Parts: sequence; C-alpha cells; structure tokens
Amino acid sequence: MGFRRNPAEIVDIRAEPFNAPLHEPFAIATGSKSEARNILIRVKLRSGVPGYGEGAGSAATGRADQDLELLRARAAGRVLLGKDARSWRRLLEVIEEEVEPRWGFLRAALGMAVLDALTRQCRIPLRLLFGGAESSVSSDVTVTIVPPSKAAMDARRIAAMGVKTIKIKVGTDLEADLGRVLSVRAAAPRASLFLDANQGYSPRQAIALVRRLRSRGVEPMFFEQPVAKDDFPGLAAVARLARIPVVADESAQEPGDVPRLARLKAAQVVNIKLMKRGLLAAYDAAVCARGLGLGLMMGGMVESCLAMGCAAHFAAGLGGFKIVDLDTPLWFQRSLTKGLSLGPGGVYDLSKVTAGIGVVPRGRRST
Ligand SMILES: [Mg+2]
Repeated sequence: MGFRRNPAEIVDIRAEPFNAPLHEPFAIATGSKSEARNILIRVKLRSGVPGYGEGAGSAATGRADQDLELLRARAAGRVLLGKDARSWRRLLEVIEEEVEPRWGFLRAALGMAVLDALTRQCRIPLRLLFGGAESSVSSDVTVTIVPPSKAAMDARRIAAMGVKTIKIKVGTDLEADLGRVLSVRAAAPRASLFLDANQGYSPRQAIALVRRLRSRGVEPMFFEQPVAKDDFPGLAAVARLARIPVVADESAQEPGDVPRLARLKAAQVVNIKLMKRGLLAAYDAAVCARGLGLGLMMGGMVESCLAMGCAAHFAAGLGGFKIVDLDTPLWFQRSLTKGLSLGPGGVYDLSKVTAGIGVVPRGRRST
C-alpha cells in the first residue's frame, strides 16, 4: 500500500518561444510591432493534466532578448516544481517574490499556466476561480496609426464584424489624428469610439483634440492615456477641461498608482493588464480600483488567444468591466492556438469552456 500522491502536484514546467508574424504592423504612438515574440509556458501536473500560459512584453524584442526571457522563465519555473497547484494564491505570491516587477509578463505567463492546469484538473472554467460573475465579454477592435483611407477601410471591416466599439490610436500628429478619427466616424457611424494616445500628447493638445472632435459632432466615450504617464495633474486637467472620462493605462503600473489616480481625480477608469505585474497584482489593482469608485477596463499587450482568453476569464469572472480591449489575436498572421477565440461581434464566449482557459497551443513548437 503506497503513499497516495497529490494529482495536483506540479511535476514539469517548460518555457518556449511563442512567435508569430503580424498581418500588418501594430502601430501606436510609442512605436510599431510587426511580430509577436511571446513566451509559452507549459506546466504538467502529477495527474498528467497540462496547463498553458503566455507572456508578452511591451517592447519589440529580438532573439537575444527572448533567449534571456526564456532563461528567466525557466529559472522561476523551477521554484514551482513539487508545489501543490491547489494552493494557487500562495503560488502566485511565490511567483511575485521570485520574478521582479519588470518581468511582469513572465509572472503572468507562469501564473496563468498554474491556474489553467488547476482548473483543468478541477474541470471548471477559469472564470469561476475569479468569481464567475459573467460568461462572456465583448471586446472592442482597434484602428491603429494608419492614414485616413486605411482607417475608414478598417472601420468598415470592424463594423461588419458586428463589433460595437472601435478604439482609435492617436497621439502622433494632431491633424493626422483628427483626420483618422473623423474618417472612422464616417465609415462606422453607429460605433462607439474611444481614443488611446499612449502618452503622445501634452494636456493642451489632448484637450484641443476632444474639443475639435466635439465641434464636428464626434463625442468619444473615453480618452485613454492622453498624456505622459507621470503627469497625473495633466490627466486630471484633460478629464476636467475636456469633460471626458480618462482611462489610466501606462499611469497605472505600480500598486500605489491606483489610489493616487483616484485621489488626484486623474482618471475615471483603470486599464488592468495581466502582463503589467502578473495575475495577483492585476487582481489586487482591480479590487482596489473598484473600491475607490473607479471603472475597470481589461486590456493586454500584443497577445494570442491564450493570454487574451485568460484575460477574458479574469474580466468575466470579476464582472462589471466597462471596457474590454482584447483584440490583438486579429493581428496574428497565423493562429498559434486552438479553442476559445474572438468570435463574431468581438465576443469571447466562455459559456462553452468546460475546463481551464479553453485554449491549447497549436503544434509542438513555434520559433
Ligand atoms: Mg493603452
């Protein structure tokens, strides 16, 4: 009669490249990305049940950077070997202790793989672990920094998908940005619009853009990160003087940022991303933001359906997210995953997921 082994013990953990070229560059005010060079984490439990996690950094990384990320992920992963996935909250803390904040996307990838494996083992969809509030989320789709004619074409395609909200990247050149927003409005007259400047404007420019749009009858719902991330008074000025709700993205990075944003009335909504500081920090930031009366947005980096699927479970589980911005799988030239994906209308339908995130990587390896 042998000792009965724990089926939820983590017995194997691997890290590999998870790369794919994009259809077209994902161009925003801070730069452009033509390839996703992400990290895939594979976890295996004693029972044989697998779990998958994806990490995506903010920078356009080269091969040398990715090799370093893989080494870092493998080193951190070793700490999880032999641990019980059922103590998941403790394991996420261990990951935070082991992996420094600037590698937040590795924290996210490791945590995601553990939670995917655990919820597969328990045969429950991941969203139940986060609260099970909702069973689907509807994402916006983005028009990146492109000329007006291309923006109009993209907007028509997005509207034809049944997507209700179009996010428009701005923050480079005020006149060009104005032209882009107006052509999106003309091409998709019924869509809700919101702007994301990725820190590209001064407060004066951001306010001018909103006022000029308003004078043309265009009223965006939100203005994400209009000014530099450290300029909290600037964010507050945009919200107050342009009379538009501001979403803090780059400004909401550290744990202390959310209370400071609320205190200074610098933002009305906080963009929560798993990749910023990992799953636990994202959870804490969301709970903190809600407690302080701020609205929630779920966002991501350039991620496949694996990480975005996890974010969809996170947002649906907690519930009440005002904005869901999980559209980057549409940029991937080939799909790296099977299972849950961005469906018609930009909807992630989680009601059909029976266990885990509901996404598996395609093929053995992707380089
Ligand atoms: Mg953003």
